[in-house]
Amino acid sequence: MNTQRTMNRQTMGRQTIRGAVLYGPRDIRFEEREAPRIVEPTDAILRLSATCICGSDLWPYRGISPVAEPTPMGHEYCGIVEEVGKAVKSLRPGQFVIGSFATSDNTCAHCDGYQSSCVHREFMSGAQAPVLRVPLADGTLVATPELPPADMIPSLLTVSDVLGTGWFAAVAADVQPGKTVVVVGDGAVGLLGVLAAKQLGAERVIAMSRHPARQQLVREFGATDIVTERGDAGVARIKELTKGVGADAVLECVGTQESMLQAIHSTRPGGSVGYVGVPHGVELNGEELFYTHVHLHGGPAPVRRFLPDLIDLVWSGKINPGKVFDLTLPLDQVTEGYRAMDERRAIKVLLRP
Ligand SMILES: [Zn+2]
Repeated sequence: MNTQRTMNRQTMGRQTIRGAVLYGPRDIRFEEREAPRIVEPTDAILRLSATCICGSDLWPYRGISPVAEPTPMGHEYCGIVEEVGKAVKSLRPGQFVIGSFATSDNTCAHCDGYQSSCVHREFMSGAQAPVLRVPLADGTLVATPELPPADMIPSLLTVSDVLGTGWFAAVAADVQPGKTVVVVGDGAVGLLGVLAAKQLGAERVIAMSRHPARQQLVREFGATDIVTERGDAGVARIKELTKGVGADAVLECVGTQESMLQAIHSTRPGGSVGYVGVPHGVELNGEELFYTHVHLHGGPAPVRRFLPDLIDLVWSGKINPGKVFDLTLPLDQVTEGYRAMDERRAIKVLLRP
């Protein structure tokens, strides 16, 4: 009770915080805004232990997805519960929690595996900040067994989106023990898609990557082959590596026309593409698709479905997905973080509030 009262006083006493706000193309500012507070009785307020920059943040940063107004950025988060609304039952202040980039009640019909399509879904934003309001806290957040050691926090943070998304790509592509898997895209999601495919028992994991630093990491995560060619040349190379058959499962982790066609054309008849790259300008020809005999399944990853299992894998030390962070910056250097990812100097940037 004492803790609860102290926490309440803390959050009520705080008027403003400083976080990342996107104003327009390449105009990201670290600036003061109103501190998040409980709005709905189902909300929780978190003090974030770590946050990061997502590949999908680069779409609005580059002006490809325009922002209508100054927008608080960030949707990957983990941290300590500071305060909960009156209706929150499963969480209490002081717990370490991880949530998805999409909120969910975790009770509606869609939440049966597809929590990122929850009828009450909201997409999170404003997580590149020290404090965050999470709606539908009971259905969105999952607590760790205890407070994690500091060196585990980067790996736990990946569960919030980038690992959860790579994992969904592998599940959507129906990766099974013994199968041959191709991963299109060597961004952070693609790298962790390789890890997911390996964990799910794939025998052969072919990563499509042309960047030496990323090639080394995909090897660590379990890639057995690397293909540096792209487009039709990349497809031809995949066919060559699979005796002309194509892959059983292909993870599409980019979202462009070229990457989507590369994925579909690399898949064997009867095989599956799991696509998690947010499509930008992707248009498929119905008749061409018809004759491929390829399953397509994707969308915004239902990360909430995988949170408990992925937290377990990290907690037990079986996986170390936090290796995707190759640059760590204090939160107030978030603008440099965006530049580093935009210029591909960094795979993924972790921010310490
Ligand atoms: Zn729901």
